[in-house]
Amino acid sequence: MRTIGLIGGMSWESSAEYYRIINQETNRRLGGVHSAQCLMWSADFDEIKRLQHEGEWGRLGEEMKAAARRLERGGADFIVLCTNTMHRLADAISSAVNIPLLHIADPTADKIRAAGIERIGLLGTAFTMEHDFYKGRLQQHHGLDVIVPDESDRRIVHEIIYKELVLGIVRQESRQAYREVIARLIERGAQGIILGCTEIMLLVSDEDSAVPLFDTTTIHAVAAVDFALRSE
Ligand code: GLU
Repeated sequence: MRTIGLIGGMSWESSAEYYRIINQETNRRLGGVHSAQCLMWSADFDEIKRLQHEGEWGRLGEEMKAAARRLERGGADFIVLCTNTMHRLADAISSAVNIPLLHIADPTADKIRAAGIERIGLLGTAFTMEHDFYKGRLQQHHGLDVIVPDESDRRIVHEIIYKELVLGIVRQESRQAYREVIARLIERGAQGIILGCTEIMLLVSDEDSAVPLFDTTTIHAVAAVDFALRSE
């Protein structure tokens, strides 16, 4: 079994979900008392959030590269970055180590294509919804037609992530707000919705949407198990 190197803490609420899913999935496949071989570097999210909102992506890149190097030195065979937003720095991370980074958008796109979906709605932080690193990869590498909420809906989605979900706060009013944002994306032709922030699965589940949801936390964690257990 390969050793999974997790870069977590962004936030720890979703990293805990990765840890749970990776271990449950490994045990489901191998039986007995099997569990995953993994290492996690968990960042202090207060610092990360501040640098993101100040636009300090160079500093964040250095932090992520240092985290990946620590995991490589500790014996990780590949890197799993437990946040969509920080994949903005995926190239910098990959260039810092000699082990692969399992990009969150790739297994997500594979699932969407396998479901026969072409037009997909994307929910996430403003960084993920508005910049090209994520949408661009889905469009250019995977041929998907990606739509995002309008500006006021993007603000709602972003604020709920940073003010509630990263603290593990789950409110019925916020769930209802997400339901309405999802419904508006469906009206615009979305055939499925990407939960493109690793905390959204704490709030939203299948019954909140009339079209299939693609939860990046679960998809990415299961893809990590696939890679860890794949024979050479
Ligand atoms: N976990 C979130 C994501 O998947 C947001 C927190 C962060 O900024 O990394 O994008």
